[in-house]
Amino acid sequence: MTKETPHSSPPYYDVAIVGAGLAGSLCAQQLSHMGWSVCVIEKSRGSGGRASSKRLDQSTSCELGTPFISISHKATRPLFTALVEQGVAAYWSDAQAYVGIPKMSAITRHWLAKSNLITNTRIHYLEQDSLVTTNIWRLCDEQHQTVAQAKCLIITAPASQTAALLSTTQDINELFTSAHKAAQTTQPQWAMWLDTEPSTMPSIITPKSSSLQRLVKDSNKPNRGQSRAERWVIQASPEWTQHHLEENKGVVATLLCQAFFHETQLIPKNTGAPHRWLLARTEATNHQQPFMWHTQKNIGLAGDWLCQGDAEGALISALSLCDHLNQMRITR
Ligand SMILES: Cc1cc2nc3c(=O)[nH]c(=O)nc-3n(C[C@H](O)[C@H](O)[C@H](O)COP(=O)(O)OP(=O)(O)OC[C@H]3O[C@@H](n4cnc5c(N)ncnc54)[C@H](O)[C@@H]3O)c2cc1C
Repeated sequence: MTKETPHSSPPYYDVAIVGAGLAGSLCAQQLSHMGWSVCVIEKSRGSGGRASSKRLDQSTSCELGTPFISISHKATRPLFTALVEQGVAAYWSDAQAYVGIPKMSAITRHWLAKSNLITNTRIHYLEQDSLVTTNIWRLCDEQHQTVAQAKCLIITAPASQTAALLSTTQDINELFTSAHKAAQTTQPQWAMWLDTEPSTMPSIITPKSSSLQRLVKDSNKPNRGQSRAERWVIQASPEWTQHHLEENKGVVATLLCQAFFHETQLIPKNTGAPHRWLLARTEATNHQQPFMWHTQKNIGLAGDWLCQGDAEGALISALSLCDHLNQMRITR
């Protein structure tokens, strides 16, 4: 994977992609495969977005975002057949779904292998130069530096961040309106990890408590190494999260540990700080297609909010957009 730092004369690409989550990384893989030069810009330290992994020490990590990827669509099956063959994903029978090997972010890292990935860089605004023959997108950061230039632009950020970026450029009202509308349905979610003594509890528990949405035995996922402790990830319910959105992390951790004990009778030994996902889930919009593309402006949108509102939807959205670009045969 090539990593670049922004410099004074930014390179020119066939396509620049904002966001290295599932949708952005898969777009990068598909378009690189089609021969496009691809640059992916990500505001976080690494790839994965809401399918990233939290590193706990040298050899262990856990997933505070999506714990697994459930596959039911014929378009996404071949992706996971290939990932399993390449040793990047495995089927977790307890969840009847796939996980990355040895951690979830392995999947996006794998898909980004042939693209230029720029991390720790938030795109703040967009500019487009209209030349006689073509348009050039310029992606600018908070320091007003142009990070990359590209003929085509794909935004794969969550709906509200997509709307914020689109509001900085003109003549793409339909795209902005869709993202802005979808953003209204976004829900937050607190999540945290904790360790307990080994137990015979099932790997996935859907609690009765209104504060908890799901308990996942993260250490039971395939290829997670040998650990004497059992690692759990607690996901609070969106309603409880909304109610405790501004609560101090210590209080949230105490309340979630109490709810966990109440549900399982297991005593937390070690706990991590809770993570507040402000943009955890968004209801999918009712589009004819699971992506958006503006032909005159060469700008497109992909992501979970355009399809199913889940991890598989993000992948279907990316595949459909790339398929559309392939069929359009844009001259690069
Ligand atoms: C706690 C939790 C539990 C979940 N459980 C499930 C589940 O059980 N099953 C399921 O299918 N799904 C689940 N999901 C949802 C799933 O994780 C998402 O649907 C999926 O990962 C979305 O992928 P994406 O690529 O569309 O978006 P994201 O993963 O959000 O990727 C977008 C990326 O864009 C980056 N970005 C945003 N703005 C900018 C900017 N201006 N400049 C640069 N980079 C930017 C972000 O940092 C991010 O990395 C869960 C999510 C959470 C948070």
